[in-house]
Amino acid sequence: MDYAGLFVGGLMLLAIISYGLLSWIMKSARKFPWCLTCGKNMTTTSLPMFMPGEVVKHLGKYSLPMAAASRYICPKGHYQLWFVPRFGNTEKAFFLREEL
Ligand SMILES: [Zn+2]
Repeated sequence: MDYAGLFVGGLMLLAIISYGLLSWIMKSARKFPWCLTCGKNMTTTSLPMFMPGEVVKHLGKYSLPMAAASRYICPKGHYQLWFVPRFGNTEKAFFLREEL
């Protein structure tokens, strides 16, 4: 094999590796979040009328709309998870675990 062939081969290998890495990242992103008790993927549920005080406080602190919060629930009903992503530089992502 000459150098050009080696170079192309190397590029292809790199492409395959980065493709694999990308799909791995996408797959693990899709899996988020999962239940720590049973390991099942948690499903998104609609927001209820009343949200826990901690969630409301966090949203109010950074003047975020109610819709910024997501609620995940374990399909087996172990617990629910409240998640508010990080929108700016000042606040942190917010998590709240609530037993059902
Ligand atoms: Zn569970």
